[in-house]
Amino acid sequence: MPCKLAAGNWKMNGLRADLVELRALVAVQPAPDCGVLICPPATLLAPMAEIAAGSHVQLGGQDCHTGKSGAHTGDISADMLADAGARYVILGHSERRADHGESSDLVAEKARAAHSAGLIAIICVGETEAERDAGATLDVVLSQLKASTPAGATAANTVIAYEPVWAIGTGRTPTLEQIAEVHDALRATVPDADMSLLYGGSVKPGNAAEIFGLANVDGALVGGASLKAADFGAIISALDAA
Ligand code: PEP
Repeated sequence: MPCKLAAGNWKMNGLRADLVELRALVAVQPAPDCGVLICPPATLLAPMAEIAAGSHVQLGGQDCHTGKSGAHTGDISADMLADAGARYVILGHSERRADHGESSDLVAEKARAAHSAGLIAIICVGETEAERDAGATLDVVLSQLKASTPAGATAANTVIAYEPVWAIGTGRTPTLEQIAEVHDALRATVPDADMSLLYGGSVKPGNAAEIFGLANVDGALVGGASLKAADFGAIISALDAA
């Protein structure tokens, strides 16, 4: 069975003053049946690891380099993330594909590095609005999936996140039918049928329950609504109840 997972992506947000949100999540939120993950900026991984120690909250990075170490100014390796307390790493987020020109081949190489470091890779795929309008959604998403997922990817080391680019940070979400269509196709295509499939793109406390009610949605990758413990806690509760 796929595991349920509520994953928060803090992106380039969060100073030490914001650790109060993690403290609230750890203290207030009862340990749910589903996994709970926060992916903070790398600067907050170590202090978060201290706060989250022994709790139900796990931590992840937002990207990693393909190498273990070396002359790559500004980059961070999967081993460094693991050393700082991460268990997961987000790879191929559309913001990295767009801002840093990351290809699916590069994402697959990063996923291999993540697996070698013992991290679970959350591989993101998703269409642009123009691709959806052109009727190319399934082609785009499934070809990204195949090219971004390395050999050796299993349900134990890989999670797939479907994130339509036009739904990220916009307050717009696909219809439930559109989400179901993509998730059903992903389930039929992933190399291991037990891989968890997350939906991401403007998930909020108000729409989480209906999205989690879909058969092949095992959780969410949440940006803006993961920054506040109250909002993310409500999304976790909705997943727990699904
Ligand atoms: C994301 O960045 O992965 C995301 C889904 O953002 P938001 O929830 O803010 O749309």
